[in-house]
Amino acid sequence: MTEPAWRSDFPLLANRRDMVYLDNAATTQKPKAVLDALARYYRGTNANVHRGAHRLSDEATAAFEAARETLARRINARSSREVLWTRGTTEAINLVAAAHGPLAVGDGDRILITEMEHHSNIVPWQQLCQRTGAVLKAARVLPSGEIDRDDFAAKLEEQPRIVSISHVSNALGTVNDLSSLVPSAKAVGATVVVDGAQAVAHFDIDVQALGCDFYAFSGHKMYGPTGIGVLYGREELLEEMPPWQSGGEMIERVRIEETTYATLPFKFEAGTPDISGAIGLAAAVDYLDDLDGEAIEAHEASLLAYASASLNQVEGLRIVGTARAKGPVVSFLLDGSHPHDVGTLLDQQGVAVRTGHHCAMPLMDALGVAGTVRASFSLYNSLEDIDKLSGAVRTARTML
Ligand code: PMP
Repeated sequence: MTEPAWRSDFPLLANRRDMVYLDNAATTQKPKAVLDALARYYRGTNANVHRGAHRLSDEATAAFEAARETLARRINARSSREVLWTRGTTEAINLVAAAHGPLAVGDGDRILITEMEHHSNIVPWQQLCQRTGAVLKAARVLPSGEIDRDDFAAKLEEQPRIVSISHVSNALGTVNDLSSLVPSAKAVGATVVVDGAQAVAHFDIDVQALGCDFYAFSGHKMYGPTGIGVLYGREELLEEMPPWQSGGEMIERVRIEETTYATLPFKFEAGTPDISGAIGLAAAVDYLDDLDGEAIEAHEASLLAYASASLNQVEGLRIVGTARAKGPVVSFLLDGSHPHDVGTLLDQQGVAVRTGHHCAMPLMDALGVAGTVRASFSLYNSLEDIDKLSGAVRTARTML
């Protein structure tokens, strides 16, 4: 069996041959192209942006804004004014809840999510409900880990003003069918928010084709640096939203009596941004753009199929989440053992997975489990990696 060609692009994997990294849904490793872009920026371009009287600042600003263009192109936004830099998915969803939320919901209005959401797509809405008197509803999840479409349809009949759903479940890998979910939510007049944290590394995203109003994602889950992410928002909505944080960079004119705000996207970017992060993330996008997206999808699908088949053969192992459409994630339980104990035994054998509730406690409750062991794959993983995982799981079983 051969290693995927892309593997040698990731220095950490060569430096850490003591382990098999299967925690990609938590964060991905970074290709050399990203590490080089970060070093190049700090070695040759570092300056603050949008305010300099000197050429270094102009160069940093040009690189920073070029990065925004790169991201806009990658997700097919109509304009880079629709691409806001955030710290990640969490901050992006908080921005929508804080700045758009009060325009969309009032006392008694509904906000609809699903039971499979990550906490970052639950708690900001709960807080919005506390502030406005709106009511949070969650569409049920079936034992397969798919959204119960009848329940979703019934809850849409209550005419929620906001519908916020994940593209791909981080805990189970379920890929939600946005091509039907988004239009049905738009048909009742809701603002549609998509948590794309687990999708961006695996699929090409076209926000116009999806038809959503907001799409949130994190750079670090798509081979970019930590601390940077994107909120895509439809320009008409962003225009009418008030700023959510304030200070430098987001203003046009400040008087002690009154301030006017900068235009999009700067209105939402108070303070010195993560300049190197944005440039690093654009380098990750350039890296992905140069690869064959279909080949990566096919490779990841084969990893998923192989892992599901080999783990299913382990006695006493149950895969949690059997949706027809899945990203490269396998969550599982071993009979009679706690996921944390399994994780520790796997780590002792050099296999890095994640265990626990995966920041999706309502989903764990809905499925009646306390947590799972989650192996998540990426373009650089190989079939050998999966053999090591299933071998380590078999050994762990004998030790529990
Ligand atoms: N949503 C989903 C589906 C996720 O997987 C994650 C990260 N685990 C987040 C949101 C939050 O992303 P971040 O921590 O990068 O803000």
